[in-house]
Amino acid sequence: MQRYVRQEVLIGPRGQRKLERSTAVIIGLGALGSVSAELLARAGVNLLLIDRDIVERSNLQRQLYTEDDVGWPKAERLAARLTAVNPDITIHAHATDFSSRNAAELLPEKTTIALDCADNLPTRFLLNERCLDARIPWVHAACVGWEGEVKLFRPGKACYHCLFREASGLGTCDTIGVLNAASAMTASLQVAETIRSLLGLAAEEPPLYRLNARGVELLSLNAGKRKDCAACAGGRPYLSGKGGAAKLCGRDIWQLRLPSVDLGRIARKLSALGEVRQSESALIFRQKGVEFTLFRDGRVLVRAPSESRARTLCAKYLA
Ligand SMILES: [Zn+2]
Repeated sequence: MQRYVRQEVLIGPRGQRKLERSTAVIIGLGALGSVSAELLARAGVNLLLIDRDIVERSNLQRQLYTEDDVGWPKAERLAARLTAVNPDITIHAHATDFSSRNAAELLPEKTTIALDCADNLPTRFLLNERCLDARIPWVHAACVGWEGEVKLFRPGKACYHCLFREASGLGTCDTIGVLNAASAMTASLQVAETIRSLLGLAAEEPPLYRLNARGVELLSLNAGKRKDCAACAGGRPYLSGKGGAAKLCGRDIWQLRLPSVDLGRIARKLSALGEVRQSESALIFRQKGVEFTLFRDGRVLVRAPSESRARTLCAKYLA
């Protein structure tokens, strides 16, 4: 196919068909996830996109969204963008939390590969546990400041918990900030590892890559299995729901949950009170000083200075 001609020269027609038969599950669609998803879409890999968040103006510096996307679910907007980029692949999108409740459903045993583009550690540990159980290869990536890290985890080899304990991590974008070139470099390396894995070219025990865009250096660190790893020994605190809830990455946005929602009914009710815009998976409500996004799965993202204020607003408008 004309679309992949430059890539086929490199990996051969059989390699190209391998990519086209694969599906990558991408968890988190921010600076890493939006860029990784776009590279994979252009390469011909089918996608399952998962993100619970909405696009904010502060995302536009490094994430592949536009002004028109602000306020809308990232999963929905990225799926629309990538369908325009490559209509020949299959793209599914879920504007939802990746949690212990849906981990098995979103990552069934036959999953080709998963990409960790999450912004928090609990999600990463949960993904690690699910991929250990279902023997799914996955590519971890994280980026903050000028630095990034990438590691492909293969079934039977070192797992995330072999390398990282609960308290480790790179800090957060909120406190340290993040350079778009660093996140794009990290995403590119993540996609290179993903494609290597899909083509059967991955290292036996893939190294942990650390990159720094400031002095431009790339370290390749040995990353072996740890004998006393609790996850390798079968410990599943995150999958069993005991690992603590994932928190939104900073900001004054709070996530609350409603038992069940009928978006159409709520839209009719709210349109008498303020501005309502609705898409397939979400509804945005704005009124002087009040702003929230309600998802079909019952989650509400409310902008408020405190959790109690968020709960008050939710009760007032959505009870
Ligand atoms: Zn382990």
